[in-house]
Amino acid sequence: MKSSAQIKAMRAAGLVVADVLRTLREAAGPGMTTAELDQLARERIAAAGAVSSFLGYGSSFGMPPFPAVTCISVNDEIVHGIPGDRALVNGDLVSIDFGASVGGWHGDSAITFGVGDLSPERAALSEATRTAMWDGIAAARVGGRIGDISAAIEGSLRARRAGYGVVAEYTGHGIGRAMHEPPDVPNVGRAGRGELITKGVCLAIEPMVTLGRAATANLDDEWTVVSRDGSAAAHWEHTVAVMPEGLWVLTAEDGGEAELTARGAKFAPLAD
Ligand code: MG
Ligand code: MG
Repeated sequence: MKSSAQIKAMRAAGLVVADVLRTLREAAGPGMTTAELDQLARERIAAAGAVSSFLGYGSSFGMPPFPAVTCISVNDEIVHGIPGDRALVNGDLVSIDFGASVGGWHGDSAITFGVGDLSPERAALSEATRTAMWDGIAAARVGGRIGDISAAIEGSLRARRAGYGVVAEYTGHGIGRAMHEPPDVPNVGRAGRGELITKGVCLAIEPMVTLGRAATANLDDEWTVVSRDGSAAAHWEHTVAVMPEGLWVLTAEDGGEAELTARGAKFAPLAD
């Protein structure tokens, strides 16, 4: 339930997040380590005067403090991969999740891309996940239910390929003064169910999908979530403000105009 002024403050964070993700995607290539990508993100955050949402996260609920500003998850890693000395190689499927705050307001977004030559199967997985994210975003409206978003995401993926593993153990979430706020936004569900979407709510919508089964496991580092069957995974995420006038995708450079308009959803950026 954010005011217009607060949503505009979140747009500032969203644009920093969009800039960092674009920068990392352009920089990533064979031989580069995930720690080098994280270092690049640290430099961009500092230059923007923003604060990482991820660094140190988790200690308040008993997890080891997250040691990086990005989550970089490669191949069978679904989410929460810790950057390190792993060098990217041709054919890797890479997801980068990044969050930052400006003036205490957070933005959270994730992209998936291939290194070098990506197999058609992996490319299709990423594109299906990206499309499902946008279908989910376009289903959000004031007066609707969280389940409308969940059903749109799940339906989009099932329509694309019956065999995708739609991860249910991790969800999207509300976002604002904290990176994670209520409500949860599941990636599977039924339209018309779940919490009411009220005016000014900001949501991070983030499908996580595998080429195999949806079951997950955690690595010994306590953070990295992998597919239990070793299948490759994709993860896309945007932060969206849901207003009576329509939607504004705060972490998309164009505010979501192209993808929302293509789906007949109302695009409603706030003027400065
Ligand atoms: Mg995220
Ligand atoms: Mg998130």
